[in-house]
Amino acid sequence: MPSTTAAQALYASETIPFDDVPVRNQLLAALDVSVLGAMKPHFRTSYVEPPAVLFGTAGSIGDVHFPENAIVSLVGSTAGVGGAVEVEAVGNEGMAGLSVFLTGHESTVQGFVLGAGVVRRMDARIFRELAAAPGPLHQVMLSYTHAVILRAGQTLACRAAHVLQQRCAGWLLETRERVGEDEFPLAEAFLSLMLGARRSGVLHALRSLEDRRLIRCERGTVEIVDAHGLEQESCGCHAVVRATYTRLLPSLA
Ligand SMILES: [Zn+2]
Repeated sequence: MPSTTAAQALYASETIPFDDVPVRNQLLAALDVSVLGAMKPHFRTSYVEPPAVLFGTAGSIGDVHFPENAIVSLVGSTAGVGGAVEVEAVGNEGMAGLSVFLTGHESTVQGFVLGAGVVRRMDARIFRELAAAPGPLHQVMLSYTHAVILRAGQTLACRAAHVLQQRCAGWLLETRERVGEDEFPLAEAFLSLMLGARRSGVLHALRSLEDRRLIRCERGTVEIVDAHGLEQESCGCHAVVRATYTRLLPSLA
């Protein structure tokens, strides 16, 4: 778990003009040009990197975040000896801060940057006002909410039924889609958190995939060498989730 003091360094970089970064976030891409155009003045686009904290637990969310190629991890706490556990990772298919749309500003999870990249953020109160009004943004958010619920069920089933190596392969493929690159930074500690598995088990799974020349790990980065082979190795849950998002948000096709 990163320290919340890391938040002090967040957004230290200059804000990037909206149009300087292509819109890859699938929720924003699902909106009509005129709808997105009206929202543009409210967005601030920045480069962020781990372990910046975007919002803390049990508090209000100041901003909602739409990753363009960054990955945001939402982490909750378990009672007793369990400690931190990832609830969900959000990439360019979604938005971090769904509770703002659903119930208001409160958050029960902590959101921090897992993968460096660009995010677009908007003041939570402005977003809630825009998304609460009937219209295209409201519809997109309802569809996204449905997709997130279905995804949560699939993740639970995956953790219960599929072995670590299969899940690890699926997560690597999903991350490749989110960042749009074959190579990306990967900290084993974070992968362990995301897969809900011991670090030793995650290391073993990565080594096994590397021995079979499906991936290459070096200096904190992983490169997907054989995506097709990795696909065959995975349990396929990431593909089920992807198909669900495509069905519910047709613009993702
Ligand atoms: Zn699975």
